[in-house]
Amino acid sequence: MKKSYRIVTYGCAMNRSDSERMVATLESLGFQPARRNRAPDLLIFNACSVRQSAIDRIYGQAGNIRELKTRNPKLKTIVTGCVLPKDRRKFAAIFDLLFNIRDLRDLPRLLQGLEGPEKGKVSVRPSQQDIDYFKIKPRSQSKFSALVPVSFGCNRFCTYCAVPYTRGLEIDRPAAEIVAEVTKLIARGFREITLLGQTVSSWRDPQDPKYKFLNLLAEIEKMSGKFWLRFTSPYILDFDEKLIGFLAQAQKVSNYLNLPLQSGDDTILKRMNRRYSVSEYLRVLNWAKKQIPDFNFSTDIIVGFCGETEKQFQNTYDVFAKIRPTMAFIARYSPRPGTMAQKTMIDDVPAKTKKARLEKLTRLLKKTARENHRRVVGRILEVLVDTWLPQKKECLGKTRIFKTVRFASKKNLAGRFINVKILKAREFELEGKLI
Ligand code: SF4
Repeated sequence: MKKSYRIVTYGCAMNRSDSERMVATLESLGFQPARRNRAPDLLIFNACSVRQSAIDRIYGQAGNIRELKTRNPKLKTIVTGCVLPKDRRKFAAIFDLLFNIRDLRDLPRLLQGLEGPEKGKVSVRPSQQDIDYFKIKPRSQSKFSALVPVSFGCNRFCTYCAVPYTRGLEIDRPAAEIVAEVTKLIARGFREITLLGQTVSSWRDPQDPKYKFLNLLAEIEKMSGKFWLRFTSPYILDFDEKLIGFLAQAQKVSNYLNLPLQSGDDTILKRMNRRYSVSEYLRVLNWAKKQIPDFNFSTDIIVGFCGETEKQFQNTYDVFAKIRPTMAFIARYSPRPGTMAQKTMIDDVPAKTKKARLEKLTRLLKKTARENHRRVVGRILEVLVDTWLPQKKECLGKTRIFKTVRFASKKNLAGRFINVKILKAREFELEGKLI
């Protein structure tokens, strides 16, 4: 009988992309997905270290694992993904194996080791210049929307961020590999391709550094077939007028950008090591707003970073009110072990204050989001349907500018481009009717 697996994924699109590669690896080894309510033979947690809460949720699995092991004594448990060195040591006491996601190619060997007398505990290789990770063909969770990693790791070292420590320095994937993967996906009928990288716009071809992110977008834009190309997350300093000019005339590349601001105060930005000032951020955003038709954007904000005063938070609030994003991922600062902020700064903003700042900004976001959505009421927008809710007889999908649209449909239209007349704007979605 085939062995079964279950993967629990936390975190961002990058972690979801890791899990797709893990599924492909396990299924090539003869594993099959575990049935619901059955204790699997292999339980893998794909961790995210961006927030302590995700790590705590994994620690909180200890009791569940004991219970699963009584139901299936052969169960092996694994942790991978974005794991900080401090957490690695603690996880080693709870799980059978811990491995670096960059070493996914080693998984078959590591699984064999789990069966032998020298049970694997921690397998983390020293940093490599080259990784096999990209060569693994993923098993996409969707039949029409694919995640394509173009780089791994990050060189920016924002002082609050764990990524350079969990995933290592940035390694870029060769252009030829990316283009070949995207070509195949489009030929297989994929309608939405999302290029992924921690700072995706910093990507350049390792075999030809003159071939930059803009060249890659332009090459994919030229491919025939009906599809939309998205990318996340770009870094504001990688944008110049050339890149914005390209986005302004592109037909397939989405005119939606996630442009993390993190703080609207220059002193805090410096403390975060974000390397740009508020005015540099605004300059790029204003280029984009002026030039890209129907431009839509979201941002990321951290409130309550070390030493953030009421005035500095107010600066963030004021910049937010000025830029008016459609969506924002607002987080309360929490120190990640081993980062510069955790080692050299004091997390001195009280939890109550962080909560109040988050709520204040969220109230503003609801206003700016609704206003942005109202602007498209009455228009007919093309939507790529991604979900069908049979009980409600409704479909959900995204426009090219990444706005969520809900409309009545008796049929499952997932994976199709259709036109929807927008009738109503809500805070975080639009309502329309199929035409
Ligand atoms: S750019 Fe900064 S926040 Fe983003 S992954 Fe890199 S270090 Fe982390």
